[in-house]
Amino acid sequence: HIKRAGSHRYARYETSMIDQRADDAVLAEDLQHALPRGELHVVYQPQVDLVTGRPVAAEALLRWQHPTRGAISPVRFIPVAERSGAINDIGLWVLEQSLVQLAVLPDPPPGGEPMHISVNLSPRQLREPTIVHDILAVLDRVGGDPRHLVLEVTESALVDETGEIAALRALREHGIRIAIDDFGTGYSSLQYLTRLPVDILKIDRSFVAELDNTPEGSAVAGAVIRLSQVLHLSTVAEGIETEQQAAELRELGCDIAQGYLFAKPLSPADFADFLTAAALPEASGF
Ligand code: C2E
Ligand code: MG
Ligand code: MG
Ligand code: MG
Repeated sequence: HIKRAGSHRYARYETSMIDQRADDAVLAEDLQHALPRGELHVVYQPQVDLVTGRPVAAEALLRWQHPTRGAISPVRFIPVAERSGAINDIGLWVLEQSLVQLAVLPDPPPGGEPMHISVNLSPRQLREPTIVHDILAVLDRVGGDPRHLVLEVTESALVDETGEIAALRALREHGIRIAIDDFGTGYSSLQYLTRLPVDILKIDRSFVAELDNTPEGSAVAGAVIRLSQVLHLSTVAEGIETEQQAAELRELGCDIAQGYLFAKPLSPADFADFLTAAALPEASGF
């Protein structure tokens, strides 16, 4: 009966695949109207310097408040937007929105740096022949400083894609920094990494979660951090949820941390409050 249970599960899985494909079409249609109807907004998750404890940047994360279905996760709708091509306009809107909302934040504390912003760039966007021009045009229009912008791309967007790599190189020549998102979960070889135009490795949440469980877990995170040091890259760890993870990553030499331990993704107003609180003299960060 093990076999029967297996095939039963398989049948259910198939049905849900078909349901999801039908639902994808509905979502793709709804997404076309989401932007003009004001259903999209951006939230900001702080990134904290692991040595000083100070916030130094934020990742912009897209949210969709659907009129009848309520909040839909980007894990669900980004792949749909990617396939329909809607991500091209939406992605540039996220960039513009982030730069505009960043510009009105309270001034950094004396001697402090302005906030840097990290924006996700989907593989589909990176394949657009006009992407470099489009991003520079947004920066120009809103007066954004390219040196304060990081673009996050996944490894899968880069494997053997010479056009995409050329685009990243061009963006980098304008002072924009490139991060590899979810590093370690994709397919790129380490050899390949030395040839990529990148500045930052984002250690995937799954490796951070392993820090608590096994010595092998910290060996993996440690290896990524040492690799990035050799390649003169900086490291951002994502999904830090415990003090223990933060302490261990600091010990391993990780530069920056992002996760629920510090803050969940915040509205612009809550992000401004977070920065104000962090700038108080008694705020130690940890
Ligand atoms: P990502 O770029 O890897 O973003 C990090 C995700 O981890 C976010 O999920 C964030 O809320 C979540 N996270 C951060 N800290 C913690 C933690 O301590 N614990 C846990 N459990 N989760 C944490 P979110 O906002 O649901 O976004 C999911 C993915 O959707 C993103 O993964 C990114 O791939 C995609 N995405 C979101 N916004 C955009 C966008 O504007 N453009 C594109 N192309 N993709 C986006
Ligand atoms: Mg990201
Ligand atoms: Mg990530
Ligand atoms: Mg991730």
